[in-house]
Amino acid sequence: MDHLLEIHNLEVKFRLRSGEVTAINDVSFFLDQGERVGLVGESGAGKSVTGFAIIKLISKPGFISGGKVLFEGRDIAGLSIEEVRNIRGNRISMIFQDPMMTLNPVLSIGTQMTETILAHKNVSRAEAQAIALDKLKKVHIPSPEKRLDQYPHEFSGGMRQRIVIAIALLTDPAVIIADEPTTALDVTIQAEIMDLLSELCESEKMALILITHDLGVVSQVTDRIIVMYAGRIVEQGLTRDVVSNPRHPYTQGLIAALPESQQRGKTLCQIPGNMPSLTDMPQGCSFHPRCELVMPICKEKVPELIELDNGNALAACHALAKGGAS
Ligand code: SF4
Ligand code: MG
Repeated sequence: MDHLLEIHNLEVKFRLRSGEVTAINDVSFFLDQGERVGLVGESGAGKSVTGFAIIKLISKPGFISGGKVLFEGRDIAGLSIEEVRNIRGNRISMIFQDPMMTLNPVLSIGTQMTETILAHKNVSRAEAQAIALDKLKKVHIPSPEKRLDQYPHEFSGGMRQRIVIAIALLTDPAVIIADEPTTALDVTIQAEIMDLLSELCESEKMALILITHDLGVVSQVTDRIIVMYAGRIVEQGLTRDVVSNPRHPYTQGLIAALPESQQRGKTLCQIPGNMPSLTDMPQGCSFHPRCELVMPICKEKVPELIELDNGNALAACHALAKGGAS
C-alpha cells in the first residue's frame, strides 16, 4: 500500500563560505493517514530542516541536494511552485513554536481566518465565517462568536496556539507538521495543546509530524518515534517500544534524561557533551565523542540503519550490528 507521505533518502545541504555542509543525510520515513509520528532529538539534529524540506520551504543558503518526497504518490520536487503552494496551503499545514509567526497582529482573528478560507476555497464570505467559527469550536475556544473580532494580543499564549491550530485546520489538511508547538508554553498548557492535537488527529483523520526536543511530549501523543542526531535518523520504531526498550545509545541517553526516569534526589542525568556542529562533524558515527560504548570502528565508519525486531524497529549503531547492545 502507498503511504500518504514518503520521504526517501532526503539530503539537504547548506552552502557556506567555507564550502558545502550536509544538514540532512539519507533521511527516509513514511507517514500514513491519521498517523502521529514524532521527530525527536536535541536542537541542531535536523528535525526542523526535515520538516521544512517536506514542504519545499528550505531557504538559502540551504537547498535540497538529494532524495525524494512523495505526497499522495506525487514527487513534490517535480511540481511547479504553484502546485507546491497549493499542497502547502491546503493539504499540509505547518504550526510553529511562536503563534505570532502565523498570526497577523493588526488583523482580528475573524478577518485572518475568513481571508485564509476565501484564498483557498470557493465559498461566500458568510460561509467562510461559518467555517471559521466551526474550527474555533473544534479547538475549544470559549464563546468563539464573541472572540472573532478580537486581535491576537487579546488572547493568552495557549489560546493563541489554539487559534493557530484552528487556522491550520481551515483547509482540512491531511497532514499537520507541528514544530515545537508547545515549547513556549507552560507545562499544564503544553499538555492541553498536545491532547488537543491528538484529539484532532482522530476526529479529523489527520496525520501529524510532531517535531520536538522533548521525548516526554512525543511519548504521550505519537504512534511512532523517529530519533534524529546530527542530521541522520539513528532510531525508529513504535513509540511504546522505543520508550520501553531504546536501542541506540543516544535514545537511551534521552530516555534516561526524562524527569520520570530520574530517581528522587539524584541529579538530572544528561548525555555529556553537545551535538556536533555541521562544520565540524566527527568521522564515522557522529555520536561517538559522546558515546560510552564507542569502539574503533565507530570512529571510521558511519553505522547504517539495521532492522531489529523483524523490521519493526530500526537503529544505526555498530554495537547493535554486532549484536552487542540490545
Ligand atoms: Fe556508540 Fe559506536 Fe553505536 Fe555510535 S556506532 S552509537 S559510537 S556504539
Ligand atoms: Mg528546530
